[in-house]
Amino acid sequence: MKAIRVHEFGGPEVLRVEEVPTPEPGPGEVLVRMHAIGVNPVETYIRAGTYAYKPALPYAPGNDGAGVVEQVGPDVNQFKPGDRVYTAGSLSGTYAEFALCRAEQVHPLPANVSFAQGAAMGTPYATAYRGLFQRAKAKPGETLLVHGASGGVGTAAVQLARSRGLRVLGTAGSDEGLKLAREQGAHEVFDHRAPDQFEQIMNATSGRGVDVIVEMLANANLGKDLTILAKGGRVVIIGSRGRVEIDPRDTMQRDVDVRGMVMPNTPPADLASIHAALVAGLENGTLRPAIGKEFPLTEAARAHRAVMEPGAFGKIVLRTERKR
Ligand code: NAP
Repeated sequence: MKAIRVHEFGGPEVLRVEEVPTPEPGPGEVLVRMHAIGVNPVETYIRAGTYAYKPALPYAPGNDGAGVVEQVGPDVNQFKPGDRVYTAGSLSGTYAEFALCRAEQVHPLPANVSFAQGAAMGTPYATAYRGLFQRAKAKPGETLLVHGASGGVGTAAVQLARSRGLRVLGTAGSDEGLKLAREQGAHEVFDHRAPDQFEQIMNATSGRGVDVIVEMLANANLGKDLTILAKGGRVVIIGSRGRVEIDPRDTMQRDVDVRGMVMPNTPPADLASIHAALVAGLENGTLRPAIGKEFPLTEAARAHRAVMEPGAFGKIVLRTERKR
């Protein structure tokens, strides 16, 4: 099978297309024939060798994807060949024509959802759900700011929160991104390039502040985020690419919490609960991943450049050459 492999850490050019043996599923494992593969920023940090987690070289990147079950291991009863599925984690890497996964990393993909949309679930939707509901404990009726509502995690957070009855404010840094955030369900949108964005957001809450912020770029915003939270407000740090200065007093005045998260810390029971909710959301139509750019699997390097460019527009996916 064709797979993308990395032999040394570096720029996007280290993503090489190679012919490798197709894996065989052992006990508790499922082999998925990939149709679409989700590309996430974290995969660029790992490839560059700058992330806390460094895989042994060579490795095949990728956690997310969607396709059809090709083969199951001896004791796997919950899936059978031909089932449509999405993956949230993989033993062999999803940037490939086939991905070997543990059965619990595989989830059913309803017939009304495309493979490209399925490839958006594993990291972005699971992250948005965990940030909103398990870390921030966001409740219906609360006001949420999705700070960075135009990308993979942000569009997911907007849909999840809107369907749960929150008032959703979202930001983006391009006109297309602002339009997308509104279409995904944001009640009001703001341009995070605007110098007065925090005043605009505060005004939209009539000076009360927001209850929850899910933050995609904490190094740019955390200091100011703390000034626009309502009493008892929570900010969940999902993304950060540098350092930031805060005034701790801003957390004291209104009993504000700053909560970090990374998906690998999610306990298995919480993870199972997240995917049960996500599959239900796909089935009932409240979750509809927005797909932006698509690239062939063999052009993974282009996808890695694109995912780090400004002007996010939903999810970036790789496609294998197979038809739907
Ligand atoms: P993405 O699709 O590339 O989206 C990036 C988002 O950040 C876009 O909405 C972008 O908006 C926004 N952004 C850019 N500048 C911003 C600013 N000054 N203020 C607020 N937002 C800004 O990436 P993603 O997959 O959604 O991931 C978002 C971040 O979360 C990444 O840093 C990623 O590494 C991280 N992440 C963390 C976890 C975890 O477990 N903690 C899991 C998944 C992702 P414009 O492009 O419109 O400006």
